[in-house]
Amino acid sequence: GGEIRFENVTFGYRNDRPIVKNLSLTIPAGKKVAIVGPSGCGKSTILRLLFRYYDVQEGRILIDGQDIRDVSLDSLRKAIGVVPQDTPLFNNTVEHNIRYGNMEASHEEVVEAAKRAHVHESIQQFPDGYGTMVGERGMMISGGEKQRLAVSRIILKDPPLLFFDEATSALDTYTEQALMSHINSILKEKRRTSVFIAHRLRTVYDSDLIIVLKAGHVAESGTHAQLIDRA
Ligand code: ADP
Ligand code: ADP
Repeated sequence: GGEIRFENVTFGYRNDRPIVKNLSLTIPAGKKVAIVGPSGCGKSTILRLLFRYYDVQEGRILIDGQDIRDVSLDSLRKAIGVVPQDTPLFNNTVEHNIRYGNMEASHEEVVEAAKRAHVHESIQQFPDGYGTMVGERGMMISGGEKQRLAVSRIILKDPPLLFFDEATSALDTYTEQALMSHINSILKEKRRTSVFIAHRLRTVYDSDLIIVLKAGHVAESGTHAQLIDRA
């Protein structure tokens, strides 16, 4: 499973000013989909509607054919994992930070998630690798490592729907590319519906489907090759 459909969705934070207007789009199950568009076009709003921080004013949102208003908020939010643009961390152990939102996970699961997300750039300096590293407090963590830590959280949570909300936008080009290729290798192991929200097309050119938003509606969609062809 994991198909997301927006059907004729209209929503505005104020009733007299719709942000998305009659928006219809389909994110196919198990695919890697990009939603791109300039700042302010409504990308984050789509995610907020999906989480039901706000409800649509017209139309409906379906996950695997089911209207999200018919699902409990708890199971809805459990089904979606988000890597945000900037991951706030607690002044606590790495393990505590990875476990955030997944409090019932075991130590072994935390260590495994840290390993798969490659949370530390020079893990060799820890005699027992991630087994001891996750116990560290007050770690100096780089921007790239913060985002890897956010990836380890969603590995632990393992939801059917993954959102990367400008997850690499704050990073330098080199770190961004390294993180994207690492995320891609993790996604290859397990087919999950993954949505990359981005304002730069170059970050997400290799997606199965690219949806270009303009002022709250779909301006065009297709693969990178198809978009270039039509341009
Ligand atoms: P994007 O993620 O593409 O940058 P957003 O979805 O955050 O765009 O915002 C779309 C529009 O909605 C913008 O014009 C923004 O100013 C407006 N907006 C976003 N959040 C709120 C809010 N909480 N209240 C009122 N307007 C908002
Ligand atoms: P951004 O604009 O960078 O996407 P958001 O404004 O969406 O950031 O908010 C950051 C976090 O705050 C989100 O990941 C979400 O968990 C939470 N959040 C956002 N809007 C709401 C809301 N209306 N109610 C509760 N939590 C919210």
